Amino acid sequence: MHEQSHYDLAHYDLAIVGGGMVGASLACLLGALAPHTRIAVIEASEQGPAISEESFDARVVALSNKAVALFEQAGVWQSIQTERGKAYSGMYVWDGEGTAKVEFNAGDIRENHLGHIVENALIVQALWQKLESLPQVDLFRGAQLEELETLERTQRLTLTANGQKHTLTSELVIAADGARSQIRERMQFRVKEWDYGQSAIVTTVQTENPHRDIAWQRFTAHGPIAFLPLGKLPGKADHHYCSLVWSADNAIAAELMQYDDETFRSKLAQAFEFQLGEVLKVDTRYKIPLQQRHAESYVQPGVALVGDAAHSIHPLAGQGVNLGLYDIQVLAEEVGRAQKKNIPLHDFSILQRYERRRQSHNLLAMATMEGFKHLFASQRPDLRWLRNTGMHFFNQQSWLKNQIARLASG
Ligand SMILES: Cc1cc2nc3c(=O)[nH]c(=O)nc-3n(C[C@H](O)[C@H](O)[C@H](O)COP(=O)(O)OP(=O)(O)OC[C@H]3O[C@@H](n4cnc5c(N)ncnc54)[C@H](O)[C@@H]3O)c2cc1C
Repeated sequence: MHEQSHYDLAHYDLAIVGGGMVGASLACLLGALAPHTRIAVIEASEQGPAISEESFDARVVALSNKAVALFEQAGVWQSIQTERGKAYSGMYVWDGEGTAKVEFNAGDIRENHLGHIVENALIVQALWQKLESLPQVDLFRGAQLEELETLERTQRLTLTANGQKHTLTSELVIAADGARSQIRERMQFRVKEWDYGQSAIVTTVQTENPHRDIAWQRFTAHGPIAFLPLGKLPGKADHHYCSLVWSADNAIAAELMQYDDETFRSKLAQAFEFQLGEVLKVDTRYKIPLQQRHAESYVQPGVALVGDAAHSIHPLAGQGVNLGLYDIQVLAEEVGRAQKKNIPLHDFSILQRYERRRQSHNLLAMATMEGFKHLFASQRPDLRWLRNTGMHFFNQQSWLKNQIARLASG
C-alpha cells in the first residue's frame, strides 16, 4: 500500500469507497486472487478504530465459518485470530414469554465451532495492515468523496483530503460506505427502508458465571437480548466477558440508557433470567437505532453497492457483516472471471452477474429475520402457542436443526 500524501490523477481498475470491514476485505481478497488489479480504497476515517488493552470494542461481529474461510483466503485471518476473539461452539436460544428453547452444537454438524465472535476494530486493523503490504493498492485515509461523474467508460472521482481536492479515475466504483451510503443516495439507487422502532444497546459485560463458549439469546416481546462470548484481555479472567446486544423498543432503550451502571446491571441480569448469574460489570453503553434497508437494485453501469450500503439487517441473527462478505466474494470471483476472459471491467454484464448471484440470497436472509422478529414480538395467544410448540418440536428435530446450524455457520 502507498499511503497517498500527494494525490496525482491516477487510473485504477477499482475504486472502493469505504475501507470498513467489507470494503477493505474486497481489496485484500482481490490482492490475493487477482494481484494485477489496481485498486484505490477511499476511507473517511484517518486513524481507523482504536484497540485498547483495557477493554473490548463495544462493536463485535459473529463471523460464520464461511466468512473465516474468506479471511483465510485474503491472508488476514492469522492477524484477526487473537486471544481476544472467541470461537463459539454452541448457541442457546430461548423464549422469555414461554418455556421454549433451542440449542445448537457445533458437534451436531461435525464442526469444531459454529463461528467466531471478533471485535470490529480488530478486523479493520488487520485488514488495513494487510493493505499496507499490497503494492497494487493505494489507501486514501481521511478522504471524503466529493463528486462522482460517469464518463463514457470510466468513473471520475473527486476527493477532499487535508483540505485539498484531488481527482482519480476508475473502471468501476464499489460503494462500501456503510448503511448511510452517500454513493447510494448520490446515484439515486431506490431503497426499501423500514424502521423497527427499536434501538440496540451495545456494550461489554462481565458475568458471574462463565459463558462456556456459547452464544446466548433470549427473545422477549420487546426484542432479543444477546450475550456473545468474548475471549481474553491481558491479565483478565477468561470466559467471563460477553458482548451485549440488547435490542428493545425505542422508549425502553432510552430508559435503559438513563440508568446508572448498578441499576442497569441489575435490570439486565433479571431480563436475562440470571442465565450467567449476576452481571458484575458493564462498560460504556452505546445506543444504535435499528433500521432494515434493502436497495432495489445493487448496480448501475460502473457502480456497485456492497455490504451495508446494499442491505442492513436486524442484528438478531448476527448475519450483517457475513452477508456483506459473501457479496464481495462473489464480486471478486466475477472480476477474476472477467479478467481471465479478457472482458473489460466497465462491461456491465460483470456487475449484473454479481447482482443476480447476491440479491435473492440477501432478500431471503432478510425475510427470514423479519419473520422471526414478528413471531417473537407477538403477544397473540395463537402465535405464542405456535412459537412454544414450534420451538419444542424444532429442538427435537436434529436434522432440521443441523440444516439451520449449517446455514448460520455459512
Ligand atoms: C448493534 C449492531 C450489532 C451488530 N452485530 C452484528 C453481528 O453480531 N454479526 C454481524 O455479522 N453483523 C453485525 N452487525 C452488522 C455489522 O456491523 C455491519 O453489517 C457491518 O459493519 C457492515 O460493514 P460495512 O463495511 O459494509 O460498513 P461499515 O462497517 O459501516 O463501514 C463503512 C466504512 O465506510 C467509511 N465511509 C462512509 N462514508 C464514506 C465516504 N463518503 N467516503 C469515504 N469513506 C466513507 C466509514 O468510515 C467506514 O469505515 C451489527 C450491527 C449493529 C448495528
